[in-house]
Amino acid sequence: MLDGRGGVQHNVDILVTGNRITRIAPRGAVPAGARLVDLGDRTVLPGLIDAHAHPAWYFNRQNRLHTPSDGDTPAQSILAAAANAYATLRAGFTTIQSVGSHSDADLRDWIATQGLPGPRILTSLDPITDPTLSPDSLRALVRQRKAQGADLIKLFASASIREGGRQTMSDSQLDAVCGEAKTLGLRTLVHAHSASSVRAATLAGCTEVEHGLFATQDELTLMAQRGTYFDPQCALVFQNYLGHRASYLGIGNYTDSGFAAMERVLPVAVADIRKALATPGLKVVYGTDAVAGADGHNAEDLVCRVQKAGESPMHAIVAATSLNAQAMGLGDRIGAIAPGLEADIIAVEGDPLRDITALRRVRFVMKSGSVVRY
Ligand SMILES: [Zn+2]
Repeated sequence: MLDGRGGVQHNVDILVTGNRITRIAPRGAVPAGARLVDLGDRTVLPGLIDAHAHPAWYFNRQNRLHTPSDGDTPAQSILAAAANAYATLRAGFTTIQSVGSHSDADLRDWIATQGLPGPRILTSLDPITDPTLSPDSLRALVRQRKAQGADLIKLFASASIREGGRQTMSDSQLDAVCGEAKTLGLRTLVHAHSASSVRAATLAGCTEVEHGLFATQDELTLMAQRGTYFDPQCALVFQNYLGHRASYLGIGNYTDSGFAAMERVLPVAVADIRKALATPGLKVVYGTDAVAGADGHNAEDLVCRVQKAGESPMHAIVAATSLNAQAMGLGDRIGAIAPGLEADIIAVEGDPLRDITALRRVRFVMKSGSVVRY
């Protein structure tokens, strides 16, 4: 059993009562009346957490990226999102952060309270993207998201990687969004690629920087000093786009030059993660940016981080469990196998400390004490 905080135990029983883990004891101490789930020689871990996913994105029945004008009904779209959520849960991810879509609120709530199978979802609802808005209008938008039930705020400080990633929001606009969110008790996740946008987001006190492909050592060090979480992607998001080129091409900025840009950044992404991991004190969380086509493959960036970027398997697993939980403000509820925490528990075939691809072989999933895959 890997406890998600760096600890390893062998041959233990994990006692779950209701939705919580109540005790971890040497094997054989099953109390009378308890139901035994024997996971054999599998490796048990906390439910995995993806800090950056997009369950509302999907391929329509023409196998093209869904857009608002493709004729799909709202019911079809939400059913597609539910299927994505289920695929994600079956892959061992019991919590995801969606950044985000207005339809996430219903998906989150139906999973939480109406029996729909899926991971626990935290959502930003629609992201804040418009760089023409005044600081006052941006603050009002943050208050509106809070009123709409957002769990966090997602904003764009830079353009997409397909458009070069230059800074789009000014320092004062970033101050407005991240400052207002902090006042309201909401975390802020900032899409930022260029060095200047990463620096500005960090100085504005935003909680977490996403992507950061062109961050230099100076920005990585600054994030470490300020306690800013950093969420870089290793490969899944790019390879998923490249592997589903025909499903995306011709829509929005999914152009030939956009695809060429994504191909160019594949080695950059791996080198960035190496640099980030070597930066003392930098909290490198785990988020895949899983878009249409990637749901259920959320463990692939763990494989990439270990096999390509040289991260130790234990360090990568801690990032995707207890560190992610801490970054989401849920460190006292999920992200570890420990008494008192919610019973989000998975088991995989093999030992991920020796072979990280074991995380592709999820054989058991329990979320909040309920077995959802066995
Ligand atoms: Zn994203």
